[in-house]
Amino acid sequence: RQEANLATAHEECRTADNVRIEVFANLGRPGDAASAMAKGAEGCGLLRTEFLFLERSTAPSEAEQLAQYQEIADTLRGRPVVIRTIDVGGDKPLAYLPLPREENPVLGLRGVRIALQHPEVLRTQLRAILRVKPAGVCRILVPMIASVSELRMVRAMIEAERQALGITRTIELGAMIEVPVAAVQADRLAAECDFLSIGTNDLTQYALAMDRGNPYVAARLDSLHPGVLRLVAQTVAGARKHGRPVAVCGGIASEALAAPLLIGLGVTELSATPAVVPDLKAFIRTLTSAQCEDVARKALELESGDDVRALVKSTWPGL
Ligand code: PEP
Ligand code: MG
Repeated sequence: RQEANLATAHEECRTADNVRIEVFANLGRPGDAASAMAKGAEGCGLLRTEFLFLERSTAPSEAEQLAQYQEIADTLRGRPVVIRTIDVGGDKPLAYLPLPREENPVLGLRGVRIALQHPEVLRTQLRAILRVKPAGVCRILVPMIASVSELRMVRAMIEAERQALGITRTIELGAMIEVPVAAVQADRLAAECDFLSIGTNDLTQYALAMDRGNPYVAARLDSLHPGVLRLVAQTVAGARKHGRPVAVCGGIASEALAAPLLIGLGVTELSATPAVVPDLKAFIRTLTSAQCEDVARKALELESGDDVRALVKSTWPGL
């Protein structure tokens, strides 16, 4: 069956009732782009750019970043490339970015907070992304957004650099939904950007108040917790007010079992690890939106992630 799924992996993904669901790949190294293509990914839904910044003594230059982004864009041959701006935190020190020692780095300077504290680092990265050709293939995704003002500040920097570079075409900007207030305020964020992408790994961590890296709570850190699913539903509701699409790029997007739930909640793009793309697309093709909506509606009323899993498995016993 896996071979059969690979044979159809390069075709567009639609549910059985013809609803378009884009299946993208998460990439963390330039070499991943080729495997994403081989597995039929329809684009890159999350480029984790940290590989460019970690384990070195100086920040990567604009030219160096541009070369890497361009290579990925070329490998993906015109498919969209969602590039996440630098998402380092106090737990991953960088020699050239002096960061304070923090008691709780997960609740401290992370993602966009660091980027806005070091605008020169962010500006260089934004310029590199803006210069990728053809204009329009790249989209910019901002991690750890907790308030509208952060998104506005990044937007202003993008606009300033776009004009300085003499680029006429605007670039799509998205906010990552990883902090619970961002899900609750999704309508306000959607008003200020082009798309939302839910990072369920961090959203789950912050919603359940359970550290992603803590082995004592790892077993209970469940992205299918109905409370987390309600945050996904709230994100979609907010985005719809402004006609914006919602993607999921957290680990849950790679699990077939989550697909009917996320699609039923109104998510239209899943960004998964390249290896699972063929099977995920094949499974989505068997689903109808009515089935997905039904199971999602029921899931929101359940008590636990285990109950949600049992519900999905009772509908699709093969999972
Ligand atoms: C997430 O938090 O779900 C996410 C996609 O980002 P990362 O796993 O890189 O923190
Ligand atoms: Mg994250």
